[in-house]
Amino acid sequence: MPAPSPASFVFRCFKGIERCADRVTGAAGPVLVTLAVGLLSLGAFCFFNVIEPTLPFRILMTPICILIAVNMFAHYYFACTVSPGFTQGPVAAGARGTPQGDMMPTETGWFWAPRRRLPREWDSRPELTPARVTMCRRCGGRKPERAHHCRVCNRCVMKYDHHCPVRINQCVGVFNERHFVLFMGYLVLATWSFVIAGYDYAWEAAGYSRVWPHTAPAVTFILSYILSLAIGLAVSIMFVWALWGVAVGETSVESQDFEYYRRVAKERGETFINAYHLGRRRNLELFFNIGEQGVYAWWTLLLPVRAVPYTDGHAWARLRGENIGIGFRPGDEVLTDDDQDEHEHDIES
Ligand SMILES: [Zn+2]
Ligand SMILES: [Zn+2]
Repeated sequence: MPAPSPASFVFRCFKGIERCADRVTGAAGPVLVTLAVGLLSLGAFCFFNVIEPTLPFRILMTPICILIAVNMFAHYYFACTVSPGFTQGPVAAGARGTPQGDMMPTETGWFWAPRRRLPREWDSRPELTPARVTMCRRCGGRKPERAHHCRVCNRCVMKYDHHCPVRINQCVGVFNERHFVLFMGYLVLATWSFVIAGYDYAWEAAGYSRVWPHTAPAVTFILSYILSLAIGLAVSIMFVWALWGVAVGETSVESQDFEYYRRVAKERGETFINAYHLGRRRNLELFFNIGEQGVYAWWTLLLPVRAVPYTDGHAWARLRGENIGIGFRPGDEVLTDDDQDEHEHDIES
Protein backbone atom coordinates (compact mmCIF):
# COMPACT_ATOMS: atom_id res chain seq x y z
CA MET A 1 0.00 0.00 0.00
CA PRO A 2 1.47 3.37 -0.99
CA ALA A 3 1.89 6.08 1.64
CA PRO A 4 -1.13 8.39 1.77
CA SER A 5 -0.65 11.65 -0.05
CA PRO A 6 -0.98 14.92 1.91
CA ALA A 7 -4.23 15.59 0.05
CA SER A 8 -5.78 12.32 1.15
CA PHE A 9 -4.62 12.94 4.71
CA VAL A 10 -6.32 16.34 4.77
CA PHE A 11 -9.41 14.82 3.19
CA ARG A 12 -9.56 12.11 5.85
CA CYS A 13 -9.15 14.70 8.62
CA PHE A 14 -12.05 16.70 7.25
CA LYS A 15 -14.18 13.58 7.04
CA GLY A 16 -13.41 12.83 10.69
CA ILE A 17 -14.29 16.35 11.78
CA GLU A 18 -17.48 16.18 9.74
CA ARG A 19 -18.57 12.94 11.37
CA CYS A 20 -17.77 14.31 14.79
CA ALA A 21 -19.76 17.46 14.06
CA ASP A 22 -22.71 15.33 12.94
CA ARG A 23 -22.72 13.55 16.27
CA VAL A 24 -22.41 16.77 18.27
CA THR A 25 -25.15 18.57 16.32
CA GLY A 26 -27.39 15.52 16.67
CA ALA A 27 -27.02 15.66 20.45
CA ALA A 28 -27.17 19.45 20.80
CA GLY A 29 -30.27 19.75 18.60
CA PRO A 30 -32.95 19.77 21.34
CA VAL A 31 -30.95 22.33 23.35
CA LEU A 32 -30.68 24.62 20.32
CA VAL A 33 -34.39 24.31 19.54
CA THR A 34 -35.26 25.20 23.17
CA LEU A 35 -32.93 28.18 22.92
CA ALA A 36 -34.53 29.26 19.65
CA VAL A 37 -38.05 29.07 21.13
CA GLY A 38 -36.83 31.08 24.14
CA LEU A 39 -35.29 33.80 21.95
CA LEU A 40 -38.33 34.01 19.65
CA SER A 41 -40.60 34.34 22.69
CA LEU A 42 -38.36 36.94 24.30
CA GLY A 43 -38.34 39.00 21.10
CA ALA A 44 -42.12 38.77 20.76
CA PHE A 45 -42.59 39.77 24.41
CA CYS A 46 -40.30 42.81 24.07
CA PHE A 47 -42.05 43.87 20.88
CA PHE A 48 -45.60 43.64 22.23
CA ASN A 49 -44.64 45.09 25.60
CA VAL A 50 -42.58 48.09 24.47
CA ILE A 51 -43.12 48.87 20.78
CA GLU A 52 -46.66 47.76 19.92
CA PRO A 53 -48.55 50.12 22.32
CA THR A 54 -47.14 53.20 20.55
CA LEU A 55 -47.44 52.08 16.92
CA PRO A 56 -49.19 54.50 14.57
CA PHE A 57 -52.49 53.26 13.05
CA ARG A 58 -52.66 50.75 15.87
CA ILE A 59 -56.03 49.38 14.84
CA LEU A 60 -54.44 48.24 11.57
CA MET A 61 -50.87 47.58 12.68
CA THR A 62 -51.59 45.43 15.73
CA PRO A 63 -53.46 42.68 13.83
CA ILE A 64 -50.66 42.62 11.21
CA CYS A 65 -48.01 42.27 13.93
CA ILE A 66 -49.98 39.49 15.62
CA LEU A 67 -50.39 37.71 12.28
CA ILE A 68 -46.63 37.88 11.63
CA ALA A 69 -45.82 36.58 15.12
CA VAL A 70 -48.38 33.75 14.98
CA ASN A 71 -47.18 32.70 11.51
CA MET A 72 -43.56 32.73 12.68
CA PHE A 73 -44.28 30.43 15.65
CA ALA A 74 -46.69 28.18 13.74
CA HIS A 75 -44.39 27.59 10.77
CA TYR A 76 -41.49 27.04 13.14
CA TYR A 77 -43.55 24.43 14.96
CA PHE A 78 -44.54 22.73 11.69
CA ALA A 79 -40.98 22.84 10.30
CA CYS A 80 -39.76 21.12 13.49
CA THR A 81 -42.53 18.55 13.88
CA VAL A 82 -43.69 17.61 10.37
CA SER A 83 -41.65 14.64 9.17
CA PRO A 84 -39.49 15.73 6.22
CA GLY A 85 -40.46 12.64 4.18
CA PHE A 86 -38.31 9.63 5.08
CA THR A 87 -38.19 6.88 2.50
CA GLN A 88 -38.29 4.16 5.15
CA GLY A 89 -39.27 3.65 8.78
CA PRO A 90 -37.38 4.81 11.88
CA VAL A 91 -34.07 3.12 12.65
CA ALA A 92 -33.95 4.05 16.32
CA ALA A 93 -36.64 3.59 18.97
CA GLY A 94 -38.64 6.75 19.48
CA ALA A 95 -37.51 8.23 16.17
CA ARG A 96 -39.98 10.00 13.96
CA GLY A 97 -41.84 8.45 11.02
CA THR A 98 -44.11 5.58 10.07
CA PRO A 99 -42.69 2.04 9.65
CA GLN A 100 -43.10 2.02 5.86
CA GLY A 101 -41.73 5.53 5.40
CA ASP A 102 -43.68 8.73 5.07
CA MET A 103 -46.67 9.04 2.80
CA MET A 104 -48.61 12.10 1.73
CA PRO A 105 -50.13 13.50 4.96
CA THR A 106 -53.92 13.31 5.25
CA GLU A 107 -55.53 16.69 5.60
CA THR A 108 -57.64 16.14 8.70
CA GLY A 109 -57.94 18.74 11.44
CA TRP A 110 -58.69 22.45 11.58
CA PHE A 111 -55.08 23.57 11.11
CA TRP A 112 -54.98 22.71 7.38
CA ALA A 113 -55.04 25.32 4.63
CA PRO A 114 -58.44 25.38 2.90
CA ARG A 115 -58.29 23.92 -0.60
CA ARG A 116 -59.35 26.03 -3.53
CA ARG A 117 -62.83 25.48 -4.84
CA LEU A 118 -62.07 24.22 -8.34
CA PRO A 119 -64.34 24.08 -11.36
CA ARG A 120 -65.50 20.60 -12.24
CA GLU A 121 -63.67 20.60 -15.55
CA TRP A 122 -60.43 21.49 -13.80
CA ASP A 123 -57.71 19.32 -15.26
CA SER A 124 -54.67 21.50 -15.02
CA ARG A 125 -52.89 19.50 -12.30
CA PRO A 126 -49.17 19.44 -12.99
CA GLU A 127 -48.19 16.54 -15.18
CA LEU A 128 -46.08 14.17 -13.10
CA THR A 129 -43.70 11.47 -14.23
CA PRO A 130 -42.60 8.71 -11.83
CA ALA A 131 -39.25 9.12 -10.13
CA ARG A 132 -36.34 6.86 -10.95
CA VAL A 133 -35.59 4.64 -7.97
CA THR A 134 -32.12 3.51 -6.92
CA MET A 135 -30.84 1.78 -3.81
CA CYS A 136 -29.10 3.78 -1.11
CA ARG A 137 -25.67 2.36 -0.49
CA ARG A 138 -25.63 3.69 3.05
CA CYS A 139 -28.95 2.49 4.47
CA GLY A 140 -29.91 -0.06 1.79
CA GLY A 141 -33.32 1.54 1.35
CA ARG A 142 -35.13 2.55 -1.80
CA LYS A 143 -34.05 5.96 -2.94
CA PRO A 144 -36.36 7.78 -5.36
CA GLU A 145 -34.87 10.51 -7.51
CA ARG A 146 -34.19 13.75 -5.57
CA ALA A 147 -33.95 11.80 -2.28
CA HIS A 148 -30.65 11.81 -0.44
CA HIS A 149 -29.23 10.08 2.56
CA CYS A 150 -28.98 12.17 5.73
CA ARG A 151 -26.02 11.18 7.86
CA VAL A 152 -27.49 12.63 11.05
CA CYS A 153 -30.91 10.95 10.69
CA ASN A 154 -29.25 7.89 9.11
CA ARG A 155 -32.11 7.59 6.64
CA CYS A 156 -32.95 8.79 3.15
CA VAL A 157 -35.15 11.86 2.85
CA MET A 158 -37.36 12.74 -0.12
CA LYS A 159 -36.25 15.95 -1.87
CA TYR A 160 -33.53 16.27 0.74
CA ASP A 161 -32.38 19.85 1.05
CA HIS A 162 -30.23 19.84 4.16
CA HIS A 163 -30.21 18.75 7.78
CA CYS A 164 -30.77 21.82 9.92
CA PRO A 165 -29.48 21.18 13.44
CA VAL A 166 -29.41 24.80 14.57
CA ARG A 167 -32.94 25.87 13.89
CA ILE A 168 -35.27 22.89 13.54
CA ASN A 169 -33.15 19.89 14.57
CA GLN A 170 -34.25 17.76 11.63
CA CYS A 171 -34.03 17.47 7.88
CA VAL A 172 -35.67 19.81 5.42
CA GLY A 173 -37.45 17.63 2.89
CA VAL A 174 -40.50 17.44 0.67
CA PHE A 175 -43.12 17.61 3.44
CA ASN A 176 -41.73 20.40 5.61
CA GLU A 177 -39.81 22.61 3.17
CA ARG A 178 -42.79 24.93 2.63
CA HIS A 179 -43.02 25.54 6.38
CA PHE A 180 -39.25 25.98 6.67
CA VAL A 181 -39.16 28.66 3.97
CA LEU A 182 -42.27 30.41 5.33
CA PHE A 183 -40.77 30.35 8.82
CA MET A 184 -37.67 32.10 7.50
CA GLY A 185 -39.83 34.61 5.65
CA TYR A 186 -41.86 35.50 8.74
CA LEU A 187 -38.75 35.58 10.89
CA VAL A 188 -37.23 38.11 8.47
CA LEU A 189 -40.40 40.23 8.63
CA ALA A 190 -40.53 40.02 12.42
CA THR A 191 -36.87 40.87 13.03
CA TRP A 192 -36.85 43.82 10.62
CA SER A 193 -40.10 45.17 12.09
CA PHE A 194 -38.47 44.98 15.50
CA VAL A 195 -35.26 46.63 14.30
CA ILE A 196 -37.00 49.49 12.48
CA ALA A 197 -39.84 50.20 14.92
CA GLY A 198 -37.67 49.66 18.00
CA TYR A 199 -34.80 51.96 16.97
CA ASP A 200 -35.77 54.87 19.26
CA TYR A 201 -36.51 52.54 22.17
CA ALA A 202 -33.11 50.89 21.84
CA TRP A 203 -31.46 54.30 22.41
CA GLU A 204 -33.79 55.00 25.33
CA ALA A 205 -33.04 51.62 26.84
CA ALA A 206 -29.31 52.20 26.42
CA GLY A 207 -29.60 54.92 29.05
CA TYR A 208 -30.13 58.10 27.12
CA SER A 209 -33.47 58.45 28.83
CA ARG A 210 -33.96 57.94 32.56
CA VAL A 211 -37.54 56.85 32.17
CA TRP A 212 -38.18 53.25 31.17
CA PRO A 213 -41.78 52.56 32.12
CA HIS A 214 -42.01 49.07 30.55
CA THR A 215 -42.30 45.62 32.08
CA ALA A 216 -39.52 44.25 29.87
CA PRO A 217 -36.22 45.30 31.52
CA ALA A 218 -34.12 47.74 29.46
CA VAL A 219 -31.18 45.34 29.28
CA THR A 220 -33.46 42.57 27.97
CA PHE A 221 -34.78 44.93 25.34
CA ILE A 222 -31.28 45.88 24.17
CA LEU A 223 -30.30 42.21 24.02
CA SER A 224 -33.36 41.34 21.91
CA TYR A 225 -32.69 44.33 19.69
CA ILE A 226 -29.10 43.32 18.95
CA LEU A 227 -30.13 39.70 18.39
CA SER A 228 -32.93 40.80 16.07
CA LEU A 229 -30.49 42.81 14.02
CA ALA A 230 -27.98 39.96 13.76
CA ILE A 231 -30.59 37.27 13.07
CA GLY A 232 -32.45 39.56 10.67
CA LEU A 233 -29.32 40.08 8.60
CA ALA A 234 -28.30 36.41 8.58
CA VAL A 235 -31.73 34.95 7.93
CA SER A 236 -32.50 37.51 5.20
CA ILE A 237 -29.56 36.17 3.23
CA MET A 238 -30.59 32.55 3.86
CA PHE A 239 -34.20 33.31 2.94
CA VAL A 240 -33.29 34.99 -0.35
CA TRP A 241 -30.92 32.12 -1.11
CA ALA A 242 -33.63 29.54 -0.37
CA LEU A 243 -36.23 31.36 -2.48
CA TRP A 244 -33.75 31.65 -5.33
CA GLY A 245 -33.14 27.89 -5.13
CA VAL A 246 -36.89 27.29 -5.31
CA ALA A 247 -37.22 29.70 -8.25
CA VAL A 248 -34.58 27.88 -10.29
CA GLY A 249 -35.84 24.43 -9.27
CA GLU A 250 -32.82 23.27 -7.27
CA THR A 251 -32.38 21.96 -3.74
CA SER A 252 -29.17 22.81 -1.84
CA VAL A 253 -27.73 19.42 -2.75
CA GLU A 254 -28.71 19.77 -6.39
CA SER A 255 -27.25 23.25 -6.68
CA GLN A 256 -23.84 21.69 -5.94
CA ASP A 257 -24.39 18.67 -8.16
CA PHE A 258 -25.74 20.70 -11.04
CA GLU A 259 -22.73 22.97 -10.95
CA TYR A 260 -20.59 19.91 -11.57
CA TYR A 261 -22.90 18.73 -14.36
CA ARG A 262 -22.80 22.19 -15.94
CA ARG A 263 -19.01 22.11 -15.98
CA VAL A 264 -18.90 18.64 -17.50
CA ALA A 265 -21.44 19.60 -20.16
CA LYS A 266 -19.59 22.80 -20.95
CA GLU A 267 -16.34 20.94 -21.47
CA ARG A 268 -18.16 18.98 -24.14
CA GLY A 269 -19.56 22.14 -25.67
CA GLU A 270 -23.05 21.28 -24.50
CA THR A 271 -25.50 22.86 -22.11
CA PHE A 272 -26.80 21.19 -19.00
CA ILE A 273 -30.56 21.49 -18.51
CA ASN A 274 -32.18 21.13 -15.12
CA ALA A 275 -35.35 19.18 -15.87
CA TYR A 276 -37.10 20.51 -12.75
CA HIS A 277 -36.70 24.12 -13.86
CA LEU A 278 -40.06 24.92 -15.43
CA GLY A 279 -39.73 28.68 -15.22
CA ARG A 280 -39.24 30.76 -12.10
CA ARG A 281 -42.86 31.61 -11.47
CA ARG A 282 -44.03 28.06 -12.12
CA ASN A 283 -41.36 26.63 -9.81
CA LEU A 284 -42.43 28.96 -6.99
CA GLU A 285 -46.10 28.12 -7.55
CA LEU A 286 -45.38 24.39 -7.53
CA PHE A 287 -43.29 24.71 -4.38
CA PHE A 288 -46.04 26.49 -2.46
CA ASN A 289 -48.74 24.46 -4.24
CA ILE A 290 -50.56 27.62 -5.32
CA GLY A 291 -51.34 29.28 -8.65
CA GLU A 292 -53.16 27.79 -11.61
CA GLN A 293 -52.07 24.23 -10.92
CA GLY A 294 -51.97 24.39 -7.14
CA VAL A 295 -54.63 23.20 -4.77
CA TYR A 296 -54.33 26.27 -2.51
CA ALA A 297 -55.03 29.96 -3.03
CA TRP A 298 -52.10 32.38 -2.74
CA TRP A 299 -53.50 33.91 0.46
CA THR A 300 -52.94 30.64 2.32
CA LEU A 301 -49.33 31.85 2.50
CA LEU A 302 -50.59 34.46 4.99
CA LEU A 303 -52.13 31.87 7.30
CA PRO A 304 -50.44 29.85 10.06
CA VAL A 305 -51.68 26.57 8.60
CA ARG A 306 -50.32 23.29 7.27
CA ALA A 307 -50.31 22.45 3.57
CA VAL A 308 -49.37 19.46 1.43
CA PRO A 309 -46.80 19.64 -1.39
CA TYR A 310 -47.86 18.96 -4.99
CA THR A 311 -46.09 15.61 -4.90
CA ASP A 312 -45.17 12.99 -2.30
CA GLY A 313 -41.71 12.67 -3.83
CA HIS A 314 -42.41 9.57 -5.93
CA ALA A 315 -43.20 11.55 -9.08
CA TRP A 316 -42.08 14.94 -10.34
CA ALA A 317 -43.16 17.68 -12.69
CA ARG A 318 -40.38 18.14 -15.23
CA LEU A 319 -39.57 19.43 -18.66
CA ARG A 320 -40.94 17.34 -21.47
CA GLY A 321 -38.42 15.08 -23.10
CA GLU A 322 -36.10 15.30 -20.09
CA ASN A 323 -37.20 12.02 -18.59
CA ILE A 324 -33.83 11.18 -17.15
CA GLY A 325 -34.83 13.52 -14.43
CA ILE A 326 -31.84 15.68 -13.98
CA GLY A 327 -31.53 16.70 -17.58
CA PHE A 328 -28.36 14.70 -17.84
CA ARG A 329 -27.48 12.69 -20.90
CA PRO A 330 -28.20 8.95 -20.83
CA GLY A 331 -25.04 7.04 -20.13
CA ASP A 332 -23.54 9.84 -18.10
CA GLU A 333 -22.32 9.13 -14.64
CA VAL A 334 -24.79 10.44 -12.11
CA LEU A 335 -23.30 12.19 -9.12
CA THR A 336 -24.94 11.19 -5.86
CA ASP A 337 -24.03 11.39 -2.21
CA ASP A 338 -22.78 7.81 -2.50
CA ASP A 339 -19.93 9.04 -4.63
CA GLN A 340 -18.41 10.69 -1.61
CA ASP A 341 -18.28 7.27 -0.01
CA GLU A 342 -16.70 5.82 -3.12
CA HIS A 343 -14.14 8.55 -3.13
CA GLU A 344 -13.45 8.04 0.52
CA HIS A 345 -13.06 4.33 -0.09
CA ASP A 346 -10.57 4.92 -2.86
CA ILE A 347 -8.44 6.97 -0.58
CA GLU A 348 -8.63 4.67 2.41
CA SER A 349 -7.95 1.43 0.53
ZN1 LIG B 1 -30.07 6.12 2.74
ZN1 LIG C 1 -31.44 14.63 8.84
